[in-house]
Amino acid sequence: MKRNLNIRGGRVIDPATNRDGVADVFIADGKFASAPVSGAEEIDARGLVVCPGFIDMHVHLREPGQGTKETIETGARAAAAGGFTSVVAMPNTTPVADHPGIIAWIEERAAASGVVNIFPTGAITVGSLGGQLAPIGAMAREGIVAVTDDGHCVQSHEVMRRAAEYCGLFGLPLLDHCQDASLAGPEAVMHEGYWSTVLGLPGWPRMAEEIIVARNALLAEATGTPIHCQHISSAGSVRILREAQARGVRLSGEACPHHLALTDESLAGYDTNCKMNPPLREASDIDALIGGIADGTLSILATDHAPHAAYEKEVEFAAAPFGIVGLETAVGIFCEILLHRRRAVDLPRMVAMLTINPAKLLGLDRGTLRPGAPGDVTIMDPGRVWIVDREQFASKGRNTPFHGWELRGRAVRTIVGGRTVWNLT
Ligand SMILES: [Zn+2]
Repeated sequence: MKRNLNIRGGRVIDPATNRDGVADVFIADGKFASAPVSGAEEIDARGLVVCPGFIDMHVHLREPGQGTKETIETGARAAAAGGFTSVVAMPNTTPVADHPGIIAWIEERAAASGVVNIFPTGAITVGSLGGQLAPIGAMAREGIVAVTDDGHCVQSHEVMRRAAEYCGLFGLPLLDHCQDASLAGPEAVMHEGYWSTVLGLPGWPRMAEEIIVARNALLAEATGTPIHCQHISSAGSVRILREAQARGVRLSGEACPHHLALTDESLAGYDTNCKMNPPLREASDIDALIGGIADGTLSILATDHAPHAAYEKEVEFAAAPFGIVGLETAVGIFCEILLHRRRAVDLPRMVAMLTINPAKLLGLDRGTLRPGAPGDVTIMDPGRVWIVDREQFASKGRNTPFHGWELRGRAVRTIVGGRTVWNLT
């Protein structure tokens, strides 16, 4: 099948090449080309924004082992419907993706689904139990793009130091779910503060995250390996990241939609779709995250898409699992909050946070419209008004706190390697 496209007349934004203006984009045989392709499909993008395909570097696809929550196939379709052409799969599956055999299995399933690009990560430690290092080199040869124990945090600084040194040998970034287990405690279900007291729910403090972000700053500085702090939720974490980056330390951070859109007050109705890890925090934390996005301290936007079956979430608050789906609402939430309400960034900066910034960290040959690169495109309308309807999700997960929200901004067409995988009609 020929994958040739001429995308005409859109506002073309490619932060990697400093492009921003009305132009045409061409794809020949699935790769960007510099001239119109004769006989290609013509797409009229007038009035729309044409970007490199969006990359979500924090997604739980749940396979192997948890196919009732999501499968690689349904997760990939949800990504396409949300405007993402590439997703990075977290390794906290059943079993944990901690050896090359599982990585190969994921890659085979991803290729068979053939919807979006799926890049696997490997666990830092065997079983993500925090003890023995996983075979990072063997997994690197199998094609992982990073390592993480996401869902857990390596508590031993010595193990994390060895992981950083090992990752350095293979040119892999080390990702961390920053959470000190002694401060968080096994019973905690939300942010520790006014609302945890009012609701009578055990909480954990910001400090549990910040102390590990600070640990990672020291390890990144000592080893030279880039360490990326996942789903940053607290004001103090942003400050520690900013200070480390000012000293040239290779420490980065990502922000997720729910931490920008909601506070711990949302838990007042005991809605388990507001139970996530890290937890929703306070308005002052949102202000700090917005400030960190505005000044570039937080350089990457990601979803932490975490589907669960309805029967798992429809239980008492303490028993419900952490996490919400995010792939199909993220672009809307980011546009609504970052562009329209808070004016934290302009559109090219927001596109960079979804394209070239994660591509650079992970070493992907994507996130740009440069001729020769894979022809992944997201066509979006940053002003399009729509209402979130979880019954329309391609994901198996319905666990969203955003059902019924009116948002401005949506991806309208998703193109992977010159092939349209989703088109809003
Ligand atoms: Zn996590």
